[in-house]
Amino acid sequence: MVVTRKHDGSPRRTVDLSPLNKFCQRETFATESPFHLARRVPKGTWKTVTDAWNGYHSVPLRESDRHLTTFITPFGRWRYTRAPQGFLLSGDGYNRRFDAVLSDYERKERCVDDTIHYDTDLEQHWWRTIDFLTRVGRSGIVLNPDKLQFAERCVDFAGFRVSESTIEPLPKYLDAIRDFPTPGSTTDIRSWFGLVNQVANYAQLRDTMAPFKPFLSPRCVFLWSPVLEEAFQTSKQAIMEAIREGVEIYDMQKRTCLRPDWSMHGIGYFLLQQHCHCASGMPDCCPGGWRITLAGSRFLSPAEQRYAAVEGEALAVAWGLEQTRGRRGHRP
Ligand SMILES: [Zn+2]
Repeated sequence: MVVTRKHDGSPRRTVDLSPLNKFCQRETFATESPFHLARRVPKGTWKTVTDAWNGYHSVPLRESDRHLTTFITPFGRWRYTRAPQGFLLSGDGYNRRFDAVLSDYERKERCVDDTIHYDTDLEQHWWRTIDFLTRVGRSGIVLNPDKLQFAERCVDFAGFRVSESTIEPLPKYLDAIRDFPTPGSTTDIRSWFGLVNQVANYAQLRDTMAPFKPFLSPRCVFLWSPVLEEAFQTSKQAIMEAIREGVEIYDMQKRTCLRPDWSMHGIGYFLLQQHCHCASGMPDCCPGGWRITLAGSRFLSPAEQRYAAVEGEALAVAWGLEQTRGRRGHRP
């Protein structure tokens, strides 16, 4: 058993079940991508979203199999009585059973622990919500009361904001670009220019980006001007548009690249997908070949600012992976 810290400070127990997984065969149960699920929710409906709490634990293990999950702790040997995290079969077994519980329940979509149901009529939605809670409760699935979104027009579901008429990436991804720090050096300008060139429709932005061009020469001295500021703001808008579109066309089958970035003050990442057919498989292969799907950045803590370069780069990789991971079972 290894205990780590959750975001809220409470402890998380992790157990390495890979020795058990080696001898187990995965039951395959196909699920769809979160965007496909979110897109099926009709416009102009009342929506309720629920979140299953420790979802896998709602699946009991057969008594005679429980000893196979035995793990060692400072307090002696323990074992699981319910499907644990990290066990190869937990996800598929859980999804198959949850689908069976809701098989004849209409107007719903489910993404692992997240379930959404919707109705055009509010009274009908009320009664159906009672039916949903009863069904799910009787099946031994526990819901997280803090994450309940009840009878709303606009909800967050499976990593998307499903509003009256649109589906958008969660605001944190768009805010990340909106709050992107103003370049403070020629190096910053060059990397911003490179990013825009790579992921936005460059043909439309050629004039906008022109003021940045002189800074591509190492001889050009850094100086931020109102003209550059305007070009920076306009190009941010273009990146946000590109992210909206990138999320819509996100494809699990496409080659995906996480580009982490580290500087003395902050770390960031860009998640890209290849839409061209270049053989190199590396971003920068051709203009517009790779499209941006997500982005984010944050400042370093005082302790992190003292990291050596290699540690800082490693931190950026780890943070980028953490930020871009999908819901369980839906790893982008
Ligand atoms: Zn290409």
